[in-house]
Amino acid sequence: MRVLFTPDHHRHSPRSWLFKGGFTQPQEVPQRGDVLLDAVTRGGHQVVQASGDDRQALRRVHDDGYLAFLEHAWDEWSRLPGASEEVLPNVHPGRRMQGLPTAVVGRAGYYQADGACPIGQGTWAGVLASARVAVNASRDLMHGVAPCVYALCRPPGHHAYADQAGGFCYLNNTAIAAEICRGDGAAKVAIVDVDVHHGNGTQGIFYSRADVLTVSLHGDPASFYPYFAGYADETGEGAGRGANLNIPLAQGTADEAYLARLDAALDKVIAFAPDVLVVALGLDASRDDPLAFLALSGDGFRRIGSRLGGLDLPTLLVQEGGYLSPVLGDNLNAVLEGFESSKAGSQ
Ligand SMILES: [Zn+2]
Repeated sequence: MRVLFTPDHHRHSPRSWLFKGGFTQPQEVPQRGDVLLDAVTRGGHQVVQASGDDRQALRRVHDDGYLAFLEHAWDEWSRLPGASEEVLPNVHPGRRMQGLPTAVVGRAGYYQADGACPIGQGTWAGVLASARVAVNASRDLMHGVAPCVYALCRPPGHHAYADQAGGFCYLNNTAIAAEICRGDGAAKVAIVDVDVHHGNGTQGIFYSRADVLTVSLHGDPASFYPYFAGYADETGEGAGRGANLNIPLAQGTADEAYLARLDAALDKVIAFAPDVLVVALGLDASRDDPLAFLALSGDGFRRIGSRLGGLDLPTLLVQEGGYLSPVLGDNLNAVLEGFESSKAGSQ
């Protein structure tokens, strides 16, 4: 498998996040990228450095004001008397009487959905590096360099909306990749999100679009992040009606039940007949993940990879969540092996 990567993600190294009312140790840490890189190296995959930044690709998904906020907020914040070392919102404007506030504290509330997206000195450089990997990987796929590419993105992106960070995510790498595929010749793109959390940002970005099918299997948001989206009755709007499929799963769902629901979801993908498949590859549905809610085994991940590979489509695998555990790297390799073995079997 061709793997795109850059070590520049290390620039984003959050110090804390706000969880259940307290500041706690971050889960989304640079070591995740190191573990995943080590795994693909061990797995014998071809690792290629991503290079160059494409601001235009980011602007196809994200709001200009939001991008400017991510780039400059820390400079402004750090000049506030008594400011913390990271930008974190303490106002959440649920009912916006006015537009975008001018003060950085107000803009933090406007652009950051929750307390899981601190912005430190290196955050912009780090999230830009993550998007760079997705951009390079999707260009490689669309230019025929390889029939399937794995983008080792960190931090993840699927909770980021066009104008809002959330859930460790700043730039929506999966959405950026899908838009590049559209722009470079794919008439229809299907996104399948297997992260344990609902891909709410991705859903939001494509919710009224008929050309991008968004499918997400995830822990039931009635009792799990992101709480405000991910329910089965969210099916798209306008031209996009019917082009969004949410499959909320009960806590503790394990391999067999998960794979049955995945098969049903993939039937929807087959019926949509996409030109390209983009997989939002979270690994946090593992029973061993520190944020565990579902209970997939390593073999479950291998079978997910096999099912996805069996679709026999040009495929981009974009890394989303999945947190430090003894099996994080093994589960990545299980997906990649399952994917590639299904290809080998179909030839
Ligand atoms: Zn997740």
